[in-house]
Order: sequence, then structure tokens, then C-alpha cells
Amino acid sequence: MPTPVIETVELSKTYEGAVGGVPVLSGVDLTIEYGEVVALRGPSGSGKSTLLNILGCLDRPSRGRYVLGGSDVSGLTREEQAWVRLHYIGFVFQSFHLLSHATALENVSLPLHYAGVPRSKAEQTARELLSRVGLNHRGSHFPAQLSGGERQRVAIARALMSRPPVLLADEPTGALDTRTGTEIMRLLLELHRERGTSIILVTHDPSVAEYADRQIFLRDGKVVSTPEASLGARS
Ligand code: ADP
Ligand code: MG
Repeated sequence: MPTPVIETVELSKTYEGAVGGVPVLSGVDLTIEYGEVVALRGPSGSGKSTLLNILGCLDRPSRGRYVLGGSDVSGLTREEQAWVRLHYIGFVFQSFHLLSHATALENVSLPLHYAGVPRSKAEQTARELLSRVGLNHRGSHFPAQLSGGERQRVAIARALMSRPPVLLADEPTGALDTRTGTEIMRLLLELHRERGTSIILVTHDPSVAEYADRQIFLRDGKVVSTPEASLGARS
């Protein structure tokens, strides 16, 4: 068997609050192969974003193991997490998370430039990616001058700059109308096919989840086997 791109073993997360620990994830076991497209579903508050943030090395598990690309990344320092994010992970958010005072080209190129890639090289790659997502004429526009769908295209271009093996998308169509959301999902799948990128997609929309090879359902911080077992999911 080839090494999976992502493997979690008994992954748990507890937030320490004033009234003691609140368990949010309890013993999540996941295996995701290179090149898979997986939809992560479950009702609001079931722990989807928490899980995605741990998979994206934006957060750390309280217990359990997270193995990314064959290496255990459960206990990395913040600096090490940043390095792993840069090389392994692209992140796309529901609300785009673009820098409002930077142009589309800068939003896409700056993260790689700050990571040490010469500006001209980062901008060249950014131009190619902006062109690939259909925005070659929008590089000098600021986010406020772009539509929601265009902003998400900028965010997708930014996420793919370092050719990460894994793209994590938290409700990427959640702020878009249905037609634009469909265009964004088609674009994500085209990029997946061209680049072999694995995609883990959080969505509560069954029609968006249909794009995935496989669906995983979360309920109360645990993986459950069927949509019926995940309250609020499609029966
Ligand atoms: P989902 O994305 O499935 O809606 P989340 O992962 O955002 O769920 O949240 C799961 C649970 O964890 C919720 O009850 C939420 O209130 C709680 N939670 C999320 N982030 C924090 C945090 N930083 N501190 C404390 N509790 C949190
Ligand atoms: Mg969420």
C-alpha cells in the first residue's frame, strides 16, 4: 500500500475554557490517499472546522497522532507548522481571507515572496495561476473591486502557489450564489485533475459534496459511518 497523504489516529481536541475542558474532537481516525477528493460533512458545531484547522497545521491536536506525507506533525512548534503549511497545504476559506489593501497579484504572490522566493519569480508564478483561474485581466484589482466568485478564484490561486499536495477548503462555496459556487467547484476539480492535488472539502451542501470521491460524516466530534447518523445531513 502507498503511504496515505493524511492519516490521523485517535485524534482529539479539547478547548480549555473557564469551566474546564470542552471536547470538540474525540478519537478521529482518518486515512486520505494522495489524489483523493473527500467531502467532510456534519451539522454546525460538529467539529469540521476544528478538524480542518488541525489537518492544515493551523492548530494542534490535544491527543492522538497526525501523520502528513509520512511524517508525524502532531507536536510541531509554530515555526515548524508554518514550514509544513507552506510546503504541504493550501487553504481556501468561505470568506476568502484576502488582504484588502493588496492587489489580486500581490495577494497571490506575497505569501511565497515572504517565504523567501524572489519577488519576480513569485509574481511570475502568481500571474500564471491568476491566468489559469481566469483572472489574467484582474491582477491589479483590489478585492473590493472583484465579485465574490473572483475573490475565491484569487484565494484558490494563492492556495496553489507552492504546489501543495493537499488543498483544504472550508465551505468554499458558502458565501457564493449557486451558479458561482458550481463554477468554483468545477474549477477546483479541474485543478485537482491537472495537478493531482488531494482536496478535503468541508460543506453542509449535499450537492457540493457530490463532487467528492468519498464523504466523511462528523457528529459531536466523531466520525460516523452514514449520513443518517449525522444529524442535519442528507438522509
Ligand atoms: P463546525 O465547523 O462543524 O461548525 P467547529 O469546529 O467550528 O464546528 O466547532 C466545534 C465546536 O468547538 C463548537 O461547539 C465550537 O463552539 C467549539 N469551538 C470552536 N473553536 C473554539 C475555540 N477556539 N475555543 C473554544 N471552543 C471552540
Ligand atoms: Mg465550520
